[in-house]
Amino acid sequence: MRIDILTIFPRIFDDFLCHGMVRRARKMNRLEVHVMDLRGTTEDRHRTVDDRPYGGGPGMLLKPEPVFRALDLLGFEAGDKPEEGTQLVLLCPQGQRLDQECLEGFATRERLVMLCGRYEGYDERIIEAYPWRRLSIGDYVLSGGEVPAMVLIEGVSRLLPGVLGDEESVRRESFGEWPGRDGFDHPHWTRPVEYRGREVPEVLRSGDHGKIEKWRRKGSRSASEPRGGSPGGEHRELERPG
Ligand code: SAM
Repeated sequence: MRIDILTIFPRIFDDFLCHGMVRRARKMNRLEVHVMDLRGTTEDRHRTVDDRPYGGGPGMLLKPEPVFRALDLLGFEAGDKPEEGTQLVLLCPQGQRLDQECLEGFATRERLVMLCGRYEGYDERIIEAYPWRRLSIGDYVLSGGEVPAMVLIEGVSRLLPGVLGDEESVRRESFGEWPGRDGFDHPHWTRPVEYRGREVPEVLRSGDHGKIEKWRRKGSRSASEPRGGSPGGEHRELERPG
């Protein structure tokens, strides 16, 4: 998959692209990321990417010229439908809310082009001119589209074939398709067996895989349970069947 990111802050991505599954996906040549500095497509001495809104109001807007020019350079013409397998993504709080199903859809694409907004958002001509899929990472407002773009890249990279190493781990996670589960991942423990008076449940050390599986299923958080823990913040105790 190829991802092009259009941003006024390209350096934000430097470290991000060199860690974890994103790095791995790139090393495996499953993922190619190109970050384009929108200031690089400006033509004035100050490399201006923003301007005041017509009609007044607070803040500035991302100007159309740098974005149109960047898309010209990438071979996208305003009004044209992108090639099959290519998706233009406009990051904005008003977009469709990102979820695991969306990520799975994106992971099947050959190319994503992501536009990161800043300021009060975009000059409307940017939105009108291209067949964007508008995408939000949640009902809140951040200062820019760079973190949302990273969320999307991080979520997609781990779904690319072979990147996680064990395909089973994607299936068995929250939102995965683990038969018999109606919700989220089950709780996990690692070594040491005992830490500060807290022990790893006996059943997980029993070696009885049937019993472990049953116990885990029972212990996974149900999608119908309230999310974020109990209102008082106390930890949900699991039944510990011996
Ligand atoms: N004026 C806009 C509004 O009220 O909806 C907010 C603009 S925000 C300060 C600047 C940019 O951050 C947006 O253009 C978008 O690219 C990005 N952004 C902020 N929150 C986001 C979210 N929840 N999901 C995706 N992108 C977001």
